[in-house]
Amino acid sequence: MSHKIMAINAGSSSLKFQLLDMPQGDLLCQGLIERIGLPDARITLKAQDQKWQQTTPVADHREAVTLLLEMLISHGIITSLQDIEGVGHRVAHGGESFKDSVRVTDESLAEIERLAELAPLHNPVNLLGINVFHQLLPDVPSVAVFDTAFHQTLEEPAYIYPLPWRYYAEFGIRRYGFHGTSHKYVSTTLAERLGVPLSALRVVCCHLGNGSSICAIKGGKSVNTSMGFTPQSGVMMGTRSGDIDPSILPWVAQREGKTPQQLNHLLNNESGLLGVSGVSHDYRDVEQAADAGNPRAALALSLFAERIRATIGSYIMQMGGLDALVFTGGIGENSARARAAICQNLHFLGLAIDEEKNQRNATFIQAENAIVKVAVINTNEELMIAQDVMRIALAESETFAVSA
Ligand code: ADP
Repeated sequence: MSHKIMAINAGSSSLKFQLLDMPQGDLLCQGLIERIGLPDARITLKAQDQKWQQTTPVADHREAVTLLLEMLISHGIITSLQDIEGVGHRVAHGGESFKDSVRVTDESLAEIERLAELAPLHNPVNLLGINVFHQLLPDVPSVAVFDTAFHQTLEEPAYIYPLPWRYYAEFGIRRYGFHGTSHKYVSTTLAERLGVPLSALRVVCCHLGNGSSICAIKGGKSVNTSMGFTPQSGVMMGTRSGDIDPSILPWVAQREGKTPQQLNHLLNNESGLLGVSGVSHDYRDVEQAADAGNPRAALALSLFAERIRATIGSYIMQMGGLDALVFTGGIGENSARARAAICQNLHFLGLAIDEEKNQRNATFIQAENAIVKVAVINTNEELMIAQDVMRIALAESETFAVSA
């Protein structure tokens, strides 16, 4: 029997969604509502080979979701709201409370709200998405899927920062890690493709997109990851610096009289590929500029690869070896150049790629006699969210149905 499940990713002025037919995972439709709150909001809906676009005033998230549900019916994608059997919501921060996805209840909602202190830009808007769907589809179970949950298996040496202890004990300042849904999906898919249980593998997963993070996965458990207390830390990204000497911040604050908000903007929006190249945050634009002879663009690409290599190296040390390296995210899935730069000169580790396979984005791109597998796997966070809705909410309702 198949179930129609919605996967929702709510942002401050946008809402992304997919409707999937589960458990097969077939995509029934996907869409995006942008510029929520403005008179010229844009709704895009795609189903198989059809696409609809509409520009219309959308006052708030409630109106956005109402419009979305109306469009699904008017375009014949569902016949009534009862067709939707579950909704999964991406939630940025689950703190130390959520080690797995969870059925949305009054208690879990209150805890997500409390955790907004750790993710003030994201959790409140994720909560808004959950509440709006709950008002419009009150009988449909919903599940919260946390970006942080997969990394709750980290042990203390990987998540404690060497700061005075009270910053952890009183404020919860520690490494949480993000992109967990993607790292979990990609590592699980890798094991399936290899035909080897994930429990037998040491994997490093490189999610390289506008936001990038690296994750060490040993025996199916996240044992380290490059994003930390916030998604700002770790490797260099599109507009984020990743790790820098922390004392640069007070130095700049004093020198330029910057406020904490301005420092945050500097680190999150003005740095990374954009900051170094001066060209763009977009990897393709930086590649083009480097090819046209721009030396800062070329430097930005080298820095990007070097910081990822350093992280991978430290994870190989921590895990005592490596069985597979996986690339995902917009850059990881598409840029043969990024993958080649990251994998160069690693023969001594038994890691080498076949350039022909790399160029055509093959699933396995390692050289013939290499020991370490190198894979390119497209991430699918929405499918993982829908799978969690099936596992957590529908399994429960089926149990209830049987025992009732
Ligand atoms: P987000 O983190 O916003 O989800 P994506 O995973 O979509 O980002 O990745 C966006 C990045 O992927 C951009 O830097 C973009 O330039 C890069 N990218 C997409 N396609 C290609 C490609 N064919 N070659 C190189 N980079 C690409």
